[in-house]
Amino acid sequence: MGLAIPANEVAERAERIRSTLEADGGFAFEGPTDHGTDPILAVHDAGLLRFLEEAWPAARAQAIPRPNLIADTYPTFRMFEGMSPELLASRPEPVFAAGRAGWWGLDTANPLVAGTYTAARAAVDVALTTVDLVLGGERAAYGLCRPPGHHAARSMAGGYCFLNNAAIAAEAIARRTRNPVAILDVDYHHGNGTQQIFWRRGDVLYVSLHADPERQYPFFLGRADETGEGEGSGANLNIPLPAGTDDEAYVGALDRGLEAIASTPGDVVVVSLGFDTYVDDPIGDFALTTAVYHECGRRVAALGRRLVVLQEGGYHRPSLGANARAWLRGAEGRPYDPTPAFGFGPNGSDR
Ligand SMILES: [Zn+2]
Repeated sequence: MGLAIPANEVAERAERIRSTLEADGGFAFEGPTDHGTDPILAVHDAGLLRFLEEAWPAARAQAIPRPNLIADTYPTFRMFEGMSPELLASRPEPVFAAGRAGWWGLDTANPLVAGTYTAARAAVDVALTTVDLVLGGERAAYGLCRPPGHHAARSMAGGYCFLNNAAIAAEAIARRTRNPVAILDVDYHHGNGTQQIFWRRGDVLYVSLHADPERQYPFFLGRADETGEGEGSGANLNIPLPAGTDDEAYVGALDRGLEAIASTPGDVVVVSLGFDTYVDDPIGDFALTTAVYHECGRRVAALGRRLVVLQEGGYHRPSLGANARAWLRGAEGRPYDPTPAFGFGPNGSDR
């Protein structure tokens, strides 16, 4: 028997953000529309999407006696050490669900359950509806995506992420506008999936501020010397940050990222917005305050580009609503108003 630990990435996160933004009274709300699978397949391997759709029914059909589907093994490159790359490339996708979960997965942080596929598709529709609003004339729009997306690579789910909402949004913008796009990833973690997807692309700039992978997930990508290859050479900027990074240091790093974006062409920025940079986040080690999210939103908007803002991580549930509200008010040019929404205590916290 294992030990059950509470999950971090839960529906309550999105519910808290939504209720706080509603209580603000200054935001207009709109539901997502169905965008089908074409924009997903423009970014992801069709096999990954098929796996996500089929895995749960297949696990049930195979009578796998677990409440969720987690891989037993992953095809790590060390498993094939000394063997030819052709051998690895020729291994077929396993037939059974537990094997497939390892084939398409990065880690054990992605338990697949009955509603996973529906939720992942809905998060993509939220992202693409946000794109529609901005390309339709809104200066900025925010998509409350859940599950998050930035750890999902072209053919790999991982880190609470199944489909890469921000990458799918950026690709859709690039195709529809035929202009370069920038992605600014301010989640606490490096967006390894987004980096991988656009690694060789010169028309999609990826800028990420994150915990140094020396000490934090995803450990194997996110270092400053990863700058892209081929046509994407120079279009990947990683800014790894130390434990304890505070408001002042963070804003300085943000300005570096914004300078990189300002020096490249393009009219739209996709923001991967995470609040696991918050001082009380249970899995982060930065020291950001709610007030600095307002300043960050203000500075990002000062780029003068249109903003597609998509929710990524953030796991201190009591502060999520206040932090999202502060960031979005900053981006809108409204003043920082620390007044807690109804039902929440001082600083947006009810705990
Ligand atoms: Zn994160």
